[in-house]
Amino acid sequence: MKTSTQQLLSSLGIDAVNSGAWAGGALDTDGGQRVASTNPATGETLAEVSLATRAHYDQVIEAAQAAYQRWRMVPAPKRGEIVRQMGNAMRDQKDLLGRLVTLEVGKILSEGMGEVQESIDMADLAVGMSRQLNGLTMHSERDRHRMYEQWHPLGTIGVITAFNFPNAVWAWNAMVALIGGDAVVWKPSLKAPLTAIATHRVCNAVLEEHGFGGLLGLIIGADAEVGEAMIHDKRLPLISATGSTRMGRHVGQATAARLARCLLELGGNNAIIVDPSADLDLALRGILFGAVGTAGQRCTSTRRLFLHESIAPAFTDRLVAAYEQVRIGDPSDPSTLMGPLIDDDAVQQYLQAIDAIRQQGGEILTGGSVIDRPGSFVRPTVVRARPDMAICQHETFAPILYVFTYRDLSQAIAWQNDVPQGLSSSIFSDSFRNVERFLSHEGSDCGIANVNIGTSGAEIGGAFGGEKETGGGREAGSDSWKAYMRRQTCTLNWSPELPLAQGVTFEI
Ligand code: NAD
Repeated sequence: MKTSTQQLLSSLGIDAVNSGAWAGGALDTDGGQRVASTNPATGETLAEVSLATRAHYDQVIEAAQAAYQRWRMVPAPKRGEIVRQMGNAMRDQKDLLGRLVTLEVGKILSEGMGEVQESIDMADLAVGMSRQLNGLTMHSERDRHRMYEQWHPLGTIGVITAFNFPNAVWAWNAMVALIGGDAVVWKPSLKAPLTAIATHRVCNAVLEEHGFGGLLGLIIGADAEVGEAMIHDKRLPLISATGSTRMGRHVGQATAARLARCLLELGGNNAIIVDPSADLDLALRGILFGAVGTAGQRCTSTRRLFLHESIAPAFTDRLVAAYEQVRIGDPSDPSTLMGPLIDDDAVQQYLQAIDAIRQQGGEILTGGSVIDRPGSFVRPTVVRARPDMAICQHETFAPILYVFTYRDLSQAIAWQNDVPQGLSSSIFSDSFRNVERFLSHEGSDCGIANVNIGTSGAEIGGAFGGEKETGGGREAGSDSWKAYMRRQTCTLNWSPELPLAQGVTFEI
């Protein structure tokens, strides 16, 4: 391992072997099963984590519950002030944290930095929200009565995150939950535990200064042990889970069985439509970033492309030429555009999809193979596809783009919507009518619908999430804070009478 890597890890407090349970500070998990975090660009081990057990899990939850009792009584704007300091702490460590994201999950450096910036932005947004946890007031039908709604904290929130946003997805949840008065216990992916530990340490240090150590918990352990404990835990009124649809379906069932809430951010199968009026240079750039960026490992990655038949042949040629110029390699080299997949399993899934594409009659125009070098590198792939190919209904978490040709926009929109997932969608068009059709009730059925930008790279100010098998959750901006709080309707009588609603009388 290069010395600079060791320096980076130790600057962030990462040891050769790290605890998998943090209730503020680290709990002793020595002797537990260990998991190694590897650099997907080289296959080298970065560090190990000694996994948490069920007993550690309980300790983390108890610490969070205890801190929550006091935190909920801190006025929301004061909670916001502490979150502001967390944002600043992440600002101070942005360079180190961003480089760690790149090391651990293989995102190119500008995306690693961008991810940490997103967490900082979330802290800033949450500070503003902390003064705007507004309820409505209503006019009572009864004389001298007043009605209003107020919002209370929910309690301790369980946050489960996917490997591909090892820092920002936690912040989407945690920054908002904290200003809402909640405690947060985080169960990150075992594929990215070091980023979670480093992020936890940076933010927890701020809480410790204010006497709230333990309010943020971190638990790194096996799904079958601590994951299952979390989703079935009656002490957690909300589980916010980001990951595959398979995982989300399971979490949804477990939380429904105990009538708890869940917030699900699951897989996508995102499409871009390009119509004949589109600025094709813009479209090309948007598609390339959407499909190849993050090596196709974003929930919002572009997986399907619908080209109008009048532009399809020439545009496909340009797209293939652009794919062949993508610089693939070390994600920490600033000139690299595409890094590795997360691990060998992901490479195998890419290869299985390539087999299925061939069997189902797809034509591979470029890519379709593994790159022969250390690490989990594959070639970004463009496929000439038909709408009836079963593989196009699935999210393969890799840089594979299916290209279709359409004749009229209604057909393209119908094909776009005809998948189980409903996360992100875009149209490139300079036609006002086509744009409005795409955005209308008969247009895109996704949670995100963009015009003249690609499917990925959402800003935090809007509510983020998707429909159908994407899970229906909404996180980050707009009024998403409501998911982390409970609503209470209050009716106050300041009259000397006791009138009943709906004119009901009940007199002795
Ligand atoms: P994954 O489903 O394999 O794992 C996600 C998380 O769920 C991990 O922390 C994992 O440990 C946990 N988990 C799995 N089984 C569990 C159980 N029984 N109990 C509790 N926790 C359990 O997903 P992944 O491979 O890490 O991430 C890729 C997936 O995430 C893709 O499908 C992608 O689209 C999706 N994703 C969605 C969004 C979104 O906002 N919609 C964002 C990022 C990633």
